[in-house]
Amino acid sequence: MTFTTRFAPSPTGHLHLGHAYSACLAYAMAHAAKGRFLLRIEDTDTARSQRHFENQIYDDLGWLGLTWETPVLHQSRNSAAYDAALHRLGQLGLLYPCSCTRGDIRRAASAPQEGAPLHGPDGLIYPGTCRHRAWDDRADTDAVRLDMQRALHHLGALPHYQETGVVAAIPLTDQHMITEIGDVVLARRDTGMAAYHLSVVVDDAAQGITHVVRGKDLAAATPIHVLLQALLGLPTPVYHHHALIRDEAGKRLAKRDDARAIATYRAEGLSPQEVKALVSL
Ligand code: GLU
Repeated sequence: MTFTTRFAPSPTGHLHLGHAYSACLAYAMAHAAKGRFLLRIEDTDTARSQRHFENQIYDDLGWLGLTWETPVLHQSRNSAAYDAALHRLGQLGLLYPCSCTRGDIRRAASAPQEGAPLHGPDGLIYPGTCRHRAWDDRADTDAVRLDMQRALHHLGALPHYQETGVVAAIPLTDQHMITEIGDVVLARRDTGMAAYHLSVVVDDAAQGITHVVRGKDLAAATPIHVLLQALLGLPTPVYHHHALIRDEAGKRLAKRDDARAIATYRAEGLSPQEVKALVSL
C-alpha cells in the first residue's frame, strides 16, 4: 500500500510554527516513503472557519515548499458522507440525541453524588442525562452522542493500533473507554454538522490515509477514532503523534498566538529555511 498521509488544518486562524512543523514532517515522511501527501481543510466549524485563513494556509504551505494533490477535500462540502456514517451507527442502535448544554453537563457532572467530575479528550465526561432517549426522537437542534457502553458491547473484542511517534499507543479497554472517554458527541448541537471525531475517521478512510501524522495533543482522542473505525468497518491507519512546539515559556502554541504565525515571520523577512530551522527541521 502506498504510504499516504495528510495535513488537516482548520481555517480558524493563522498557521503557526507548530503547524509548519507538523505539515513539513508529514510531507518529509511521505517523500521519504515515496508516498502521497494530501491537504484537507477541516472547516465543519462554520462559525469560526474563514476563507481568508484558508487562502493563507495555501499560501504559507506553498511558501514552505510543500505541494499537495488537488482537489483539496473540504469537510464542509462532505456532509453526505458523515451523515451516511451516522446513519449506519444509528441503525446499529449505538446513538442517542442529546439536548444538554455545556452548563447542563457541568451541573450534572458536579452533582454531589457524582464525586469529582472527570475530564476526557473533549472536556467533561458526559454524565448520561439523555442516554435513555431514542435515536429517532432527535430534534434538529440536538447533538448526537455515541452510547459507549453499547458500542463496546457491540464490538466485543476491542481493536488496537500502532503508534510510531513520541507517545505510546493507548490500549483500548472497556474501562478506559468508559471512564476516560465516555459518550462522545458525533454531530453537534444547532448546526447538526458532524463532529471532528466522526469526520476525521470518515475522511481518513475515504482518502486512503495509511499514516496519520499529527501533534501529540490529539493522542488522547485516538482511541475514539480507532473505535469508530472498528464500528464502521474502516481500516485503522498507523498513528505518528509528534512533539508539540512550545514557546520560550514552555507553553504550547495556539492559533491566537499571532507572534508565532508563519505569516508574521514571513512579513519580518525570514526565509522558509529560517522558519524551518526555528522548529529544528
Ligand atoms: N483539524 C485538526 C486541527 O486543526 C487536526 C485533525 C487531525 O490531524 O486529525 O487541529
